Amino acid sequence: MIALLTLVLVSADINYIVVDVRTRQIVKQDWPDADRPIPAGSLVKPFTALASSGPFPEFVCHGAVDRCWLAKGHGPMRFRDALANSCNAYFLQLARNVDANSLMVVAAKFGISPPDVDTPEARIGLGRVELGNVWEISPLALARAYCELTARSAEPRVAEILAGLKQAAESGTASAIGRGSLAKTGTAPCVAKRKHVGDGFTIVLEPAEAPRIAILVRVHGVPGAEAAKSAALILRQERHQ
Ligand SMILES: [Zn+2]
Repeated sequence: MIALLTLVLVSADINYIVVDVRTRQIVKQDWPDADRPIPAGSLVKPFTALASSGPFPEFVCHGAVDRCWLAKGHGPMRFRDALANSCNAYFLQLARNVDANSLMVVAAKFGISPPDVDTPEARIGLGRVELGNVWEISPLALARAYCELTARSAEPRVAEILAGLKQAAESGTASAIGRGSLAKTGTAPCVAKRKHVGDGFTIVLEPAEAPRIAILVRVHGVPGAEAAKSAALILRQERHQ
């Protein structure tokens, strides 16, 4: 097991940071330039959700025609399921009704930069570098923004987001993590010199009920759900320290 962990963790294609949820300090860092903004993919979805107004809607995802990554569609989605499964159709719909000002306010509250461009795609992490509509956030700021989410668990909409993150770890896109954690995956355009099609991201917070650590992981050249497997190994290592 130790050999396997070492093998995985020394891979140049993996970066991660571990942050103490209470102090927001970096506990461990294997991520050069963790304060440089990069595309964060679907990890931005909770913050766009907070900038929407009114109760979270229900929406039917028809898949590819609705521009969801799941070609056959997710079907009827409530907010929690949509977040757990990172349904692009649901969040595109939600993002269309978000005004730029509200998003700026939320971004400031959570210590992240707002998107430079106001497109629904950018707001849910679906933007493309060549179109100039990606939302860039530094990995460190992003990890701390998720810490802030857990600190605001008494707010009803945040509580709904945390429930979605719990479900993501249990049975959603981050199911490689498993029960007992909060998690979210994302896939974003690669910014490395040696270009990959996309990079997978996973944020994990644990324990789920009152998180103490946040781990943000990036794996070059894989989708987010695949990055969750590396995050699970790192999480296991952190538990044993
Ligand atoms: Zn969908």
